[in-house]
Amino acid sequence: AELATQPDYSPETRAAIARAPRIFINGRWIESTGDQTIDIWDPSTGQIIGAQVDATQVDIDRAVRAARTAFDDGRWSNLAPAARERILLRLADIIEAHAEELAELESVDNGKPLTFSRNMDLPSGLGYLRQMAGWASRAGGDCINPALHPGGLFHAYVRREPIGVVGQIVPWNFPFIMAMMKVAPALAAGCTIVLKPAEQTPLTTLRLADFLSEAGLPDGVLNIVTGRGETAGDALVRHPLVDKIAFTGSTNVGKIINRAATDTLKRVTLELGGKSPVIIMPDVDPATTAGHAAGAIFFNAGQVCVAGSRIYAHRDVFDDLLEGLSAQAKGWNVGAALAEGTQMGPLVSAEQQARVGGYIEAGRKAGASVVAGGHIAGHGNGYFVEPTVLADVSPDMSVVREEIFGPVVVAQRFDDLDQVIAAANDTELGLAASIWTKDVSAMHRLAARVKAGIVWGNCHGVIDPALPFGGFKQSGLGREGGRSGFDAYTEEKTVIVKLG
Ligand code: NAD
Repeated sequence: AELATQPDYSPETRAAIARAPRIFINGRWIESTGDQTIDIWDPSTGQIIGAQVDATQVDIDRAVRAARTAFDDGRWSNLAPAARERILLRLADIIEAHAEELAELESVDNGKPLTFSRNMDLPSGLGYLRQMAGWASRAGGDCINPALHPGGLFHAYVRREPIGVVGQIVPWNFPFIMAMMKVAPALAAGCTIVLKPAEQTPLTTLRLADFLSEAGLPDGVLNIVTGRGETAGDALVRHPLVDKIAFTGSTNVGKIINRAATDTLKRVTLELGGKSPVIIMPDVDPATTAGHAAGAIFFNAGQVCVAGSRIYAHRDVFDDLLEGLSAQAKGWNVGAALAEGTQMGPLVSAEQQARVGGYIEAGRKAGASVVAGGHIAGHGNGYFVEPTVLADVSPDMSVVREEIFGPVVVAQRFDDLDQVIAAANDTELGLAASIWTKDVSAMHRLAARVKAGIVWGNCHGVIDPALPFGGFKQSGLGREGGRSGFDAYTEEKTVIVKLG
């Protein structure tokens, strides 16, 4: 089918991409100390549309020192918690007033359909900001009676204090949401930040900088620096004045960052890759469930850490499920991000398109059947890949074991619960899983035995700022969201005072 082409950009988008490359430090847009830039492209067309700073080590050092000063002089952490909360809520209102502009910018930069940016990314990111704003004034410490000492001899309590300066490194699949998931709890806790967006998708994060002072955020509290991971990102991770690193991205880079942060024993939270199973029991309606399973993998072109990339369907429903899934794959409307009716956009980059194409090829060579899709779809120069369903796979194939991060799903059959649990857990990753059944007992037995940080029942991909989000095994360290997501930006301090 003919893919819809990219319509013209709005004047706001044109203005945002026409800006000269700058970084945002201490409340001001400044030039880099170097002269290197990185292209910004539109994945729906493959056209280069702008440029961003490729920050030098000196730029990173400046940003960190600005954040350090802003933390150490207490201009943020010593505000009344309710004042911090109010500023974050004001920031959310300002962002919301620009929601349509930001949604389009996100779609142009990442390639995701405008309807999704508008109805999912913006509201969800704002949800994180508003939810976490509330923790600023609600989180306290604990008062604990010492166990080994007579009552009344000591007064002991545990304070929760902001960790300090945090470096936050985000990926390109949900640039706005990921920025909010990181920035919101850190600011609520009283930390100051150097935020680095992914080089593929800097636009919404850079636009965010324009709103900070209007919201009342003091200068230097949130600094935004663009640049390459291996240089700018690495300099941030190694900087001795940074107290914590929060990262979302690939498992590989997560390990590199964790090692690099060890030299200064920084606190580290990592949100890494997944290979999440979708377990389909025999009592479901296969046609309806096939639609849900398609959504679990093809949403955001499969560039989702919790993508349902491994389907395990019970033998009784497998054939019907596979047929329904293939029909879905062939029926999804693939096109440019801003085009009317697009359900799936391009991948973010030529690199990701080639990578995903390589996995499909490797699956074919290893003997997998391509039941639907399987092609890199050329259109203009956009980075499209067809929604793809692979069957006749075996557990050792790379398409079954590795995170593909594209619209590619592998479908396998199972006979009983023990077998599907073993298969679902046969991976070094453990981010998420979904279970589809009307059998309440099977649901909860499976939920308890799947090794994953998030388990969904009869849904997939539901993420909420009130709930912890993160991975088992090599899918990460720590949690974002909920109380634990806020606590991850605090240190505990125990105070023991002898009375009398
Ligand atoms: P990546 O992990 O390399 O990039 C994510 C972020 O980390 C970017 O901001 C990048 O600049 C930064 N970075 C890279 N190397 C760094 C380093 N040495 N030190 C500090 N920061 C560094 O991801 P990618 O290469 O863009 O994508 C590759 C694969 O990663 C994807 O195909 C996918 O499998 C996975 N991925 C997963 C997620 C997720 O949410 N789990 C998100 C994006 C990518």
